[in-house]
Amino acid sequence: MASYPVKIISLQQVTHDVKRFRIEKPAGYKYTPGQATDVSVNKPGWENETRPFTFTSLNSDQWLEFTIKRYADHEGVTNLLHQLAEGDELTIRDVWGAIEYKGPGYFIAGGAGLTPFIAILRELHQQNKLDDNVLFFSNKTADDIIYQEELIKMLGKNAHFILTREKKEGYENAHLNKEFFQSKITDFSKHFYVCGPDKMILDVNAALEQCGATTESLVFEK
Ligand SMILES: Cc1cc2nc3c(=O)[nH]c(=O)nc-3n(C[C@H](O)[C@H](O)[C@H](O)COP(=O)(O)OP(=O)(O)OC[C@H]3O[C@@H](n4cnc5c(N)ncnc54)[C@H](O)[C@@H]3O)c2cc1C
Repeated sequence: MASYPVKIISLQQVTHDVKRFRIEKPAGYKYTPGQATDVSVNKPGWENETRPFTFTSLNSDQWLEFTIKRYADHEGVTNLLHQLAEGDELTIRDVWGAIEYKGPGYFIAGGAGLTPFIAILRELHQQNKLDDNVLFFSNKTADDIIYQEELIKMLGKNAHFILTREKKEGYENAHLNKEFFQSKITDFSKHFYVCGPDKMILDVNAALEQCGATTESLVFEK
């Protein structure tokens, strides 16, 4: 497997526990929006600690971008990544991943599970092809929502924000279950793109199948 040392070009705080990393792009490096690569940090003792992260940049960008949530409760890779500075070096590897755009439908994300959809939605927006797509984005609180303004700008009323642990005007409180989907969706023959914690993926896929979605119409990381 090829590996590429790349420097961090810029860092930006996105939410209280999510940062945007822009890094150098190796010549000729390409991916399909929705795909990820294995990343490690070039610091002594961390070189072999690889973790997968999804590109949130577009192929037309001159940099690669990751949007990374930190787990501060233990000394893992995301905790270290959030302590890095511009100029620090990462290693990225070949691209992989099962999530890719197959046609208009419903994007259902929980927390940092939004990341594969960011690149897909940004590319569709750039191509003026976003119209028939709808996002349901579930988070614990409004402060956890990644790129909220941009999502509203791109999707307008087709961006639905759901909160599970906070009541706030303008946001829905709901669980992503059969009743929720039946109340929001009429056409279950469209594509469904699902990404989030493992349990959420299982629960959402089961609910969608109960509503009539077919296994072939569900796109998620297996
Ligand atoms: C294909 C794919 C793409 C992904 N893309 C992204 C992305 O774009 N952005 C993003 O933010 N994430 C993404 N993830 C998730 C990301 O890979 C993980 O968050 C990351 O691997 C965690 O690494 P870590 O070393 O910090 O935690 P790890 O040590 O690997 O732990 C992972 C999980 O276990 C828990 N855990 C482990 N050990 C402890 C401990 N001692 N105490 C408490 N909790 C513990 C953590 O809370 C965390 O939930 C992706 C995952 C996959 C599979």
